[in-house]
Amino acid sequence: MPAILGTYKRQAPLFVRGDGVYMIDETGKRYLDFVAGIAVTSLGHNDAGVNNALQESIASGLIHTSNLYRTAPGEALAQWLVDHSFASSVFFSNSGAEANEGAFKFARRWARSTPHVAKHEIIAVRGSFHGRLPGTLAATDRPAYRLPFRPLMGGVSIVERDLDELRTVLDTQTVAAVIVEPIQGEGGVRVVDPEFLRGLRALTAERDVLLILDEIQCGLGRTGSFFAYEQLGIEPDMLTIAKPLANGLPIGAILVNEKVARTMQPGDHGTTFGGGPLLAHVAHHVVQRLSDPALLQHVREVGAWFGEQLQGIADRTGSVRAIRGKGLMWGMDVHEPAAAIIGRAFDRGLLMVSAGEHTLRFLPPLVISQAELASGLEILEAAMKG
Ligand SMILES: *Cc1c(COP(=O)(O)O)cnc(C)c1O
Repeated sequence: MPAILGTYKRQAPLFVRGDGVYMIDETGKRYLDFVAGIAVTSLGHNDAGVNNALQESIASGLIHTSNLYRTAPGEALAQWLVDHSFASSVFFSNSGAEANEGAFKFARRWARSTPHVAKHEIIAVRGSFHGRLPGTLAATDRPAYRLPFRPLMGGVSIVERDLDELRTVLDTQTVAAVIVEPIQGEGGVRVVDPEFLRGLRALTAERDVLLILDEIQCGLGRTGSFFAYEQLGIEPDMLTIAKPLANGLPIGAILVNEKVARTMQPGDHGTTFGGGPLLAHVAHHVVQRLSDPALLQHVREVGAWFGEQLQGIADRTGSVRAIRGKGLMWGMDVHEPAAAIIGRAFDRGLLMVSAGEHTLRFLPPLVISQAELASGLEILEAAMKG
């Protein structure tokens, strides 16, 4: 039996170093990183600014205090997020799934304050991925993840991404919240129709149901704006972030508007590690970097170019069914199993991840240059040809 529980199929080489947009194995072989630790290391590996923030925090001697005490980094990070979003308050978690689980609790807590005290249900949509913990698994539309763990948590259901269906389902008396990713990541990089999202915002407001946006994968610069919702012209009631928030350290956050914040009392939720000084100090550095207008413009520009190059590969190879994406978040449906292409690309020194059996997913660091993207695309095309 492997000492690490066998819940993942891992590539064989042992990775020992990181360098910008490359990961390096123990033989010294360099791999161009089109995964970024699954949309986490957006500033690349061994980034000087991130390293400096880590060192500053270590110099304070205060890595952890628990949430029984005040620390400056957590307060500064929360204030920064409030100043740069729709939110009035922030709760820090340790992961994406934990952020969504917390949001579900907050939705139910808020519901108790409405005239409809039986409101409790959480609705997710077709193609969703919100995490692997009990509540979030029930909101995740992936049979293979769900089936071994039935019965799933009650009061959570999945409906079609269709406003007519939602109009029937969103009962003011029973539904507390709808959760949706503006771009579905694990579900195949599906850009959810902005018209659908705007309609959903109007419908949830009309029915007194909260709208939760899960921007754990598509937020924090990935699609060319700091938050994906900025491109939609709507604001959610709650928003969850995690993956790139501290460029690799485990931290997530639930951003909530005033309506939700008002209903939360001491004791309603908790976490031992969440928002500790080391994590928050690094995250505060990372959000300032990821919100830099020059970086966001870079993501939009090289992202659009990358999408065109993928289309070129599709035209030349004839082995692509569809391409979807935005910024530096792309999916490509291929005829062959994605794992076969990923394996051949890996041997040639390119890291890629799938999003379902026949979808290649591209999530490079946001700091990647066009030349580096081009060299990865060359490897990709060669790997697709066999
Ligand atoms: C990765 C992801 C999660 C879960 O985050 P973890 O940190 O792995 O728990 C939830 N929602 C979305 C959209 C994600 O991409």
